[in-house]
Amino acid sequence: PPLVLLDPAEVVRSSLNLVKNQIQAAGVCLETEYAPRLPAIRGDMRSLQQVLVNIVQNAAQATPPGGVVRVETCLGRDAGHIRINVADTGPGIAPSVREHIFEPFFTTKGVGKGTGLGLAVAYSLVKRHGGRIEVECPEGGGAVFTVRLPVAPSAT
Ligand code: ADP
Ligand code: MG
Repeated sequence: PPLVLLDPAEVVRSSLNLVKNQIQAAGVCLETEYAPRLPAIRGDMRSLQQVLVNIVQNAAQATPPGGVVRVETCLGRDAGHIRINVADTGPGIAPSVREHIFEPFFTTKGVGKGTGLGLAVAYSLVKRHGGRIEVECPEGGGAVFTVRLPVAPSAT
Protein backbone atom coordinates (compact mmCIF):
# COMPACT_ATOMS: atom_id res chain seq x y z
CA PRO A 1 0.00 0.00 0.00
CA PRO A 2 1.12 3.59 -0.61
CA LEU A 3 2.58 5.43 2.37
CA VAL A 4 0.93 8.72 3.25
CA LEU A 5 1.43 11.41 5.88
CA LEU A 6 -0.29 10.43 9.11
CA ASP A 7 -0.84 12.11 12.48
CA PRO A 8 0.49 9.66 15.12
CA ALA A 9 -2.32 10.61 17.52
CA GLU A 10 -4.88 9.76 14.84
CA VAL A 11 -3.25 6.38 14.25
CA VAL A 12 -3.41 5.57 17.96
CA ARG A 13 -6.90 6.95 18.53
CA SER A 14 -8.40 5.03 15.61
CA SER A 15 -6.61 1.83 16.62
CA LEU A 16 -7.89 2.05 20.19
CA ASN A 17 -11.41 2.60 18.88
CA LEU A 18 -11.23 -0.86 17.35
CA VAL A 19 -10.38 -2.59 20.63
CA LYS A 20 -11.63 -0.47 23.49
CA ASN A 21 -15.00 -2.18 23.97
CA GLN A 22 -13.31 -5.55 24.16
CA ILE A 23 -10.80 -4.23 26.71
CA GLN A 24 -13.41 -2.60 28.89
CA ALA A 25 -15.54 -5.75 28.76
CA ALA A 26 -12.55 -7.62 30.21
CA GLY A 27 -12.57 -5.22 33.18
CA VAL A 28 -9.31 -3.58 32.11
CA CYS A 29 -8.97 0.20 32.20
CA LEU A 30 -7.55 1.88 29.09
CA GLU A 31 -5.58 5.08 29.74
CA THR A 32 -4.15 7.34 27.06
CA GLU A 33 -1.78 10.28 26.94
CA TYR A 34 -1.05 12.08 23.69
CA ALA A 35 1.90 14.42 23.36
CA PRO A 36 0.64 17.58 21.68
CA ARG A 37 1.68 18.48 18.12
CA LEU A 38 3.74 15.43 17.24
CA PRO A 39 5.27 15.59 13.77
CA ALA A 40 3.67 13.51 11.01
CA ILE A 41 4.89 10.04 10.11
CA ARG A 42 4.77 8.34 6.71
CA GLY A 43 2.84 5.14 6.73
CA ASP A 44 -0.12 2.99 5.86
CA MET A 45 -2.99 3.56 8.32
CA ARG A 46 -4.36 0.00 8.18
CA SER A 47 -0.96 -1.57 8.72
CA LEU A 48 -0.19 0.64 11.69
CA GLN A 49 -3.63 -0.03 13.17
CA GLN A 50 -2.90 -3.74 12.86
CA VAL A 51 0.37 -3.24 14.75
CA LEU A 52 -1.29 -1.38 17.61
CA VAL A 53 -4.31 -3.68 17.80
CA ASN A 54 -2.00 -6.70 18.11
CA ILE A 55 0.13 -5.11 20.84
CA VAL A 56 -2.80 -3.67 22.79
CA GLN A 57 -4.77 -6.92 22.64
CA ASN A 58 -1.80 -8.79 24.07
CA ALA A 59 -1.46 -6.18 26.81
CA ALA A 60 -5.14 -6.44 27.72
CA GLN A 61 -5.04 -10.25 27.70
CA ALA A 62 -2.04 -10.22 30.03
CA THR A 63 -3.71 -7.81 32.45
CA PRO A 64 -5.96 -9.11 35.23
CA PRO A 65 -9.37 -7.45 35.70
CA GLY A 66 -8.94 -4.17 37.52
CA GLY A 67 -5.58 -3.60 35.85
CA VAL A 68 -4.56 -0.89 33.44
CA VAL A 69 -3.31 -0.69 29.87
CA ARG A 70 -1.71 2.67 29.27
CA VAL A 71 -0.97 3.98 25.77
CA GLU A 72 1.23 7.04 25.29
CA THR A 73 2.59 8.91 22.32
CA CYS A 74 5.71 11.04 22.57
CA LEU A 75 8.65 12.35 20.65
CA GLY A 76 11.66 10.03 20.60
CA ARG A 77 14.88 10.85 22.42
CA ASP A 78 16.15 12.05 19.07
CA ALA A 79 13.64 14.30 17.29
CA GLY A 80 13.76 12.05 14.20
CA HIS A 81 11.40 9.49 15.73
CA ILE A 82 8.08 9.31 17.49
CA ARG A 83 7.32 6.65 20.08
CA ILE A 84 4.13 4.85 20.97
CA ASN A 85 4.31 3.08 24.34
CA VAL A 86 1.90 0.39 25.45
CA ALA A 87 2.31 -0.49 29.13
CA ASP A 88 0.30 -3.05 31.06
CA THR A 89 -0.01 -4.20 34.66
CA GLY A 90 0.18 -7.89 33.82
CA PRO A 91 2.86 -10.36 34.98
CA GLY A 92 5.55 -9.17 32.57
CA ILE A 93 7.51 -11.51 30.31
CA ALA A 94 10.21 -13.92 31.52
CA PRO A 95 13.55 -13.56 29.68
CA SER A 96 13.30 -17.12 28.30
CA VAL A 97 9.93 -16.22 26.73
CA ARG A 98 10.94 -12.73 25.70
CA GLU A 99 13.59 -13.95 23.30
CA HIS A 100 10.95 -15.77 21.23
CA ILE A 101 7.93 -13.46 21.21
CA PHE A 102 8.57 -12.00 17.74
CA GLU A 103 8.88 -15.45 16.13
CA PRO A 104 5.94 -16.55 13.96
CA PHE A 105 3.69 -19.12 15.73
CA PHE A 106 5.34 -18.65 19.12
CA THR A 107 2.61 -18.47 21.75
CA THR A 108 2.23 -19.25 25.43
CA LYS A 109 -1.56 -19.21 25.12
CA GLY A 110 -3.53 -22.42 25.02
CA VAL A 111 -4.43 -24.37 21.89
CA GLY A 112 -7.01 -22.38 19.92
CA LYS A 113 -6.37 -19.27 22.02
CA GLY A 114 -3.34 -17.73 20.38
CA THR A 115 -1.93 -18.01 16.88
CA GLY A 116 1.45 -16.66 17.86
CA LEU A 117 1.33 -14.39 14.84
CA GLY A 118 0.41 -11.03 16.39
CA LEU A 119 3.90 -9.82 17.26
CA ALA A 120 5.57 -11.41 14.23
CA VAL A 121 3.19 -9.50 11.98
CA ALA A 122 3.62 -6.30 14.01
CA TYR A 123 7.40 -6.63 13.81
CA SER A 124 7.50 -6.93 10.03
CA LEU A 125 4.96 -4.14 9.47
CA VAL A 126 6.93 -1.76 11.69
CA LYS A 127 10.16 -2.74 9.98
CA ARG A 128 8.56 -1.96 6.61
CA HIS A 129 7.91 1.55 8.00
CA GLY A 130 11.57 1.98 8.89
CA GLY A 131 10.83 1.66 12.59
CA ARG A 132 11.25 -0.92 15.31
CA ILE A 133 9.53 -2.50 18.29
CA GLU A 134 11.17 -2.87 21.67
CA VAL A 135 9.98 -4.50 24.85
CA GLU A 136 10.96 -3.87 28.43
CA CYS A 137 9.79 -5.36 31.68
CA PRO A 138 10.22 -2.77 34.43
CA GLU A 139 11.09 -3.73 38.04
CA GLY A 140 7.62 -2.83 39.22
CA GLY A 141 6.04 -5.49 36.97
CA GLY A 142 4.13 -5.50 33.71
CA ALA A 143 5.44 -5.15 30.18
CA VAL A 144 6.09 -2.06 28.08
CA PHE A 145 6.10 -2.34 24.29
CA THR A 146 7.51 0.63 22.38
CA VAL A 147 6.96 1.25 18.70
CA ARG A 148 9.47 3.72 17.23
CA LEU A 149 8.63 5.25 13.87
CA PRO A 150 10.63 7.75 11.84
CA VAL A 151 9.24 11.25 11.46
CA ALA A 152 8.30 11.98 7.85
CA PRO A 153 11.01 13.81 5.93
CA SER A 154 10.15 17.54 5.93
CA ALA A 155 7.68 17.04 8.82
CA THR A 156 10.46 17.83 11.33
P1 ADP B 1 -0.45 -14.71 20.68
O1 ADP B 1 -1.06 -13.48 21.28
O2 ADP B 1 -1.33 -15.35 19.66
O3 ADP B 1 0.07 -15.67 21.71
P2 ADP B 1 1.65 -12.89 19.87
O4 ADP B 1 2.66 -12.96 18.76
O5 ADP B 1 0.72 -11.74 19.85
O6 ADP B 1 0.85 -14.26 19.83
O7 ADP B 1 2.41 -12.92 21.26
C1 ADP B 1 3.38 -13.94 21.49
C2 ADP B 1 3.57 -14.20 22.97
O8 ADP B 1 4.21 -13.06 23.57
C3 ADP B 1 2.31 -14.40 23.78
O9 ADP B 1 1.81 -15.73 23.69
C4 ADP B 1 2.80 -14.06 25.19
O10 ADP B 1 3.50 -15.14 25.75
C5 ADP B 1 3.83 -12.97 24.94
N1 ADP B 1 3.30 -11.62 25.20
C6 ADP B 1 3.00 -10.69 24.26
N2 ADP B 1 2.59 -9.54 24.83
C7 ADP B 1 2.64 -9.75 26.18
C8 ADP B 1 2.34 -8.91 27.32
N3 ADP B 1 1.90 -7.65 27.19
N4 ADP B 1 2.52 -9.47 28.56
C9 ADP B 1 2.97 -10.73 28.70
N5 ADP B 1 3.26 -11.55 27.66
C10 ADP B 1 3.10 -11.06 26.41
MG1 MG C 1 -1.35 -11.71 20.28
